[in-house]
Amino acid sequence: MKENPQAEPADDKRNNFIETIIEEDLKNGKNGGAIQTRFPPEPNGYLHIGHAKSIVLNFTMARKFGGKCNLRFDDTNPVKEEERYVQSIQEDVRWLGFEWDGPVRYASDYFEELYQFALRLIQADKAYVCELTAEQVSEYRGVPTRPGKPSPWRDRPIAESLEIFHKMRKGHYPEGQYLLRAKIDMASPNMHMRDPILYRIRHAEHHRTGSEWCIYPMYDFAHGQGDYFEGVTHSLCTLEFEVHRPLYDWFLDNLAEPGRPRPQQIEFARLNMSYTVMSKRKLLELVETKVVTGWDDPRMPTLSGMRNRGYPPEAIRAFVERIGVARRENVIDLSLLEFFVREHLNKTAPRYMAVLHPLKVVLTNYPPTQAHIYPAILNPEDPSAGERLLDFSRELYIDRDDFMENPPKDYFRLAPGAEVRLRYGYYITCQEVVKDAEGNVVELRCTYDPDSFGGTTADGRKVKGTIQWVNAKRARPATIRLFDRLFNDPTPDGHKDRDFKEFLNPDSLKYLHNCLVEPAVAKLPRFTHFQLERVGYFFTTASHRADEIHLDRTSTLRDSWAKQKKS
Ligand code: ATP
Ligand code: MG
Repeated sequence: MKENPQAEPADDKRNNFIETIIEEDLKNGKNGGAIQTRFPPEPNGYLHIGHAKSIVLNFTMARKFGGKCNLRFDDTNPVKEEERYVQSIQEDVRWLGFEWDGPVRYASDYFEELYQFALRLIQADKAYVCELTAEQVSEYRGVPTRPGKPSPWRDRPIAESLEIFHKMRKGHYPEGQYLLRAKIDMASPNMHMRDPILYRIRHAEHHRTGSEWCIYPMYDFAHGQGDYFEGVTHSLCTLEFEVHRPLYDWFLDNLAEPGRPRPQQIEFARLNMSYTVMSKRKLLELVETKVVTGWDDPRMPTLSGMRNRGYPPEAIRAFVERIGVARRENVIDLSLLEFFVREHLNKTAPRYMAVLHPLKVVLTNYPPTQAHIYPAILNPEDPSAGERLLDFSRELYIDRDDFMENPPKDYFRLAPGAEVRLRYGYYITCQEVVKDAEGNVVELRCTYDPDSFGGTTADGRKVKGTIQWVNAKRARPATIRLFDRLFNDPTPDGHKDRDFKEFLNPDSLKYLHNCLVEPAVAKLPRFTHFQLERVGYFFTTASHRADEIHLDRTSTLRDSWAKQKKS
């Protein structure tokens, strides 16, 4: 069965609007024909699938137009940032298939330059030291429809601001005593222009600069300047920064020198996905409350989680390219990502057989000593993958779910008196159902048709159902983890007055013991991806050994959630 990805954004399939802007800039010789982008994560969490959109966009724009793409950590808030996040982010960008140009950059590389720039703004009477508290600042700022109230320190003499700012840097004051603010326009309809804060005092250890600084620049003051210092030409960011753009430009107006590239901020819609929470704050909450085992739990929407889940990076890139780049906010169905995961694995994964809930089958007319060993192809999508040997015999196991004692009319698998085809094997007919004292079905006694090997019979009869099986003597026990979606609601964080954690899927992780797999699986190296026929895509985990089989499920074979959504 072929799945169809949902018909998704018709928007801009041809050339995204950012490519159009870049082409236009190149035509006009803007910035001397230079093209440079950057991916600017804050190291306060692991990267998630939303970041993948930004990464793919920034790196592919640079590649496509022969430009460069930097990796820059926006590390201006020492309280929330950690070295381990810096490491994981680099690992994830590389895993996705991208390599940044030049060394890794940090906003903290520019602390001195930013400080000098702040001094210049004070000297030009465009910044001042303010003594309002952060709360008072927002109170004075007022509402967009009415002008704000100027700070009583707005007209502090330049020399005085310079002196206090200098002492702020030297550590003379406690946190909160002073702020440095830009002097722009307290009546601007854009709240970000109402004398934004540039620096605040923070006596905190920074993951890179240690205790060298005790004043830290605000994000807005650091970001555009970092772009400028690095020669970034196209600063691509998500739509919530659109209202910051006048401020971004105001700083550049006061800083940029002729002859150097001047960055342009361009906003695009962030990726939102159903059945997913994407904010780092919420993901951190899942980690801290131990709902998941960590940021890289296979159920997390983080890139490291998806890597541990067995999602191929190619699938994530294909997904991101498919959803495109536009300025309209929308929510992408999680099943679209799962579709690309399956599509990639379908092409690359060899096939094996396993039964998750074994039910014994004895073929009463198959000679007890007879064995039939024969090759079966590993991947119908890729003949070069080769073959493995199957071993047919009198005693087999099938999956309990493939038998029903009282089946409905349209049931095509095994039932009393019914005939089914065994994958790569023979037709069998169920003659007798053996039960234990409690009435549980413990064994099926069947007959096989010796002429039906390969799916054809002497009389040309066809059966509708094909099921997988394993050889009772040769099959190997396996422990399997089945991962599923973390949330069972399409918008876990979209419910008023309800906590997103109320919508966790209680079945997002299930352990299955005593599964049986065909012997070839035992020999697979760890982290080998394959399909268990009719069951899903799996891989051998880190703890997998030939004598102790451990498998994780990456995905089911088709969208098992589609039906639930409709009902
Ligand atoms: P969050 O809101 O999840 O905490 P953030 O925007 O604070 O994320 P950053 O580390 O600042 O995270 O993001 C780095 C880059 O990735 C930014 O350019 C940001 O715009 C982009 N980005 C973050 N989330 C998404 C998303 N969901 N879709 C597209 N781009 C995103
Ligand atoms: Mg951010």
